[in-house]
Amino acid sequence: MNERKLGLETRAIHAGRLDPRIEGAAVTPIFQCSVYEHTTEGADYHDVRYPRLSNLPNHAVLARRLAALEGAEDALVTASGMAAISTTLLQVLLEGGHLLIQDQLYGGTHAFVTHDFHGFGLSYDFISPDDPDSWKAKLRSNTRAVYVEAMTNPLLQVADHRAVVDFAREHGLVSIIDNTFATPVNFLPIAVGFDLSLHSCTKYLNGHTDLVAGAVIGSTELVRSIRHRLGHLGGCLDPHACFLLDRGMKTLVLRVRQQNANAQALAGCLAQHPAVERVNYPGLPQHPDHTRARELFSGFGGMLSFEPRHGLEAARRFLDRVEIPINGPSLGGVETLVTRPVTTSHANLTEDELRRLGISAALIRVSVGIESVNDLIPDFEAALA
Ligand SMILES: *Cc1c(COP(=O)(O)O)cnc(C)c1O
Repeated sequence: MNERKLGLETRAIHAGRLDPRIEGAAVTPIFQCSVYEHTTEGADYHDVRYPRLSNLPNHAVLARRLAALEGAEDALVTASGMAAISTTLLQVLLEGGHLLIQDQLYGGTHAFVTHDFHGFGLSYDFISPDDPDSWKAKLRSNTRAVYVEAMTNPLLQVADHRAVVDFAREHGLVSIIDNTFATPVNFLPIAVGFDLSLHSCTKYLNGHTDLVAGAVIGSTELVRSIRHRLGHLGGCLDPHACFLLDRGMKTLVLRVRQQNANAQALAGCLAQHPAVERVNYPGLPQHPDHTRARELFSGFGGMLSFEPRHGLEAARRFLDRVEIPINGPSLGGVETLVTRPVTTSHANLTEDELRRLGISAALIRVSVGIESVNDLIPDFEAALA
């Protein structure tokens, strides 16, 4: 079976499965076992089977499936999205490297770079993803990598990803993208030329709001070196979580397509609502990055944000009144979530930083779920009335 030729829907279910099946079982059993017989005499330590080395059948099935979904040579699952991000950056920037990194970032990544890099002897400069001409001046002799996110949180801006890849190639840098918000359903970074695609599988890849996991996807050589580092740092994924992620990923394509459709419908409705000042959704023609998103992505995703016309009081009232969504941070699950980023994902930023990024106290972020949009839209309208 040539998996690369199969549709994304088929790969999400079948790619990488164990062959032959264990006792004929249709799903991969949980290998709840930390000791394995040592059968190959003279083999290397990394041929020893041990959960921390991410080489159990549960890890291998997920790695093969993730690689098949994004069209990459290899992949690795990790204990969290942050384990994928921190282990990758520590490995790629080893011994005093410098990183060019997008100025709008997931909060945990921002904190890791701005708080922890210095102690590890690493350095960074922020780059504005919309201004490729300004990047060259920030290169240093020890610059090793450039890092962006598929879409930013919470304004859903889309960087010029092709320019990022071209710049990395021209200057011999490793190009890294956090593809969590787009998912392989909407964006395939490896096909565009990125070296590494990272995920918080906690979000869309699992999709059921019941685990924490991460992934690193890329070339055999890069993934091998990051897996090796992960074995030392210890951020392996537990086999139970592997099993849940394996199950969740089988419905990824169905879920994300429904989330794309629901978010587009909800964004369109909010954009016309008299009580709404502004909607940020890359699928709307008025979004500043709409043309770029249409060119790069096959869907615009399930995340949007909006500002009520009457400011903070109206935002608080909306969150109190809306009934179907859960008021909480995180994203990517089957249930719709609403949150005010200044109180959750962006709570650590100063007033100045928030103003510079254009994130107001009234801004509401929505992770659109797979409920009926015929229930979501009236619920949002009633809460805004
Ligand atoms: C949640 C998230 C992360 C971190 O993932 P965890 O699984 O919580 O460690 C990284 N990047 C993005 C874009 C995220 O949304």
